[in-house]
Amino acid sequence: MSRGQPAGVPRVTELRVAPLHQMMKTWIVVGRLFSLMVLTLNQAVAAEPQASTGWVLVIHGGVGVPSKNELPPAKEAAYRQALGEALQAGQAVLSTNGTSLDAVVAAIKIMEDSPLFNAGKGAALNHEGVAELDASIMDGTHLQSGAVAAVRQIKNPIEAARRVMDNTSHVLLVGPGADAFARQQGLPLMPPEYFIIEQRRRQLEQIQSEVKAKKRADNWVTRVADRVGTVGAVALDKHGNLAAGTSTGGLADKLPGRVGDSAIIGAGTYANNATCAVSGTGQGEYFIRASAARDVAALMEYRGMSLADAAETVVMKKLTTMKAEAGIIALDRKGNITTPYNTEGMFRGSVREDGQRNIAIYEK
Ligand code: ASP
Repeated sequence: MSRGQPAGVPRVTELRVAPLHQMMKTWIVVGRLFSLMVLTLNQAVAAEPQASTGWVLVIHGGVGVPSKNELPPAKEAAYRQALGEALQAGQAVLSTNGTSLDAVVAAIKIMEDSPLFNAGKGAALNHEGVAELDASIMDGTHLQSGAVAAVRQIKNPIEAARRVMDNTSHVLLVGPGADAFARQQGLPLMPPEYFIIEQRRRQLEQIQSEVKAKKRADNWVTRVADRVGTVGAVALDKHGNLAAGTSTGGLADKLPGRVGDSAIIGAGTYANNATCAVSGTGQGEYFIRASAARDVAALMEYRGMSLADAAETVVMKKLTTMKAEAGIIALDRKGNITTPYNTEGMFRGSVREDGQRNIAIYEK
């Protein structure tokens, strides 16, 4: 109360000022409570995958599948068996509380070692008849990533990609430098013949003779049917962490030194715990131009799309409009899976903690 005022007669300003202070205090308290509620809500959302979904693993063996009537039953059985072994290797990691990164590496290694897929042993050959391999891996927890490209000696390029991520400050090593890095890391190296299988040699001869005879465009980007299976995996572990990895021999008859999307983070591989993990297969040049894997995550992040809508938009709209033959496997932090492709089929499989297991080639 001001001096000079009769006692008991409050000034008009005092009458107004006092409640205003109280109101402000009240609002500050309400504001703090609101922030606390929002924080708690966010934490609840972030914790959801750990609490409700359990681990999930999804793999692919590429979109370059033969036509249904050209895949003999025995060969189809061999593919299903190899996909099953890859799932089993990843499952062994995830079911014993292992990380999504370890599961992705374990599953991909099985497919790299199998001559059935275009990765590691059995890779497509470049124009000079040499296997040149690309691979990448990404950790959705901190967006760490690693990749190798155009390597010629590393038995399991996905392991080298992991070492680049874990043991260097770089993301991508290429060519002889990457092979030397793998040697220095103690990873198994193989002579060039290890990677080459007879079927790939014949395939290259055929492509090159057709190009010579002008029976086929010499733009190798258009030779979609020549790819028989880049491999990839995405996983969600019990800790709620996502990871993605991809490994390939690239396109048959590619120019030496050509690098495809499988080595490029954001093109063929992407993972972010906030959104999803993605691994792609198809014409790599289009995946690179479209930033395809990152685009799926970006649609979820910025547009709030669901995993299925985001993946559908990128594969069935964007890449299809670009006339790319393409497929992806994608997994979100809640354990949702989607595997859109615009080709006749895609070798793929999934397994999850609740016991659901699936292997498919042609079925949508
Ligand atoms: N995406 C791979 C590449 O372009 C090929 C494939 O998926 O089969 O190198």
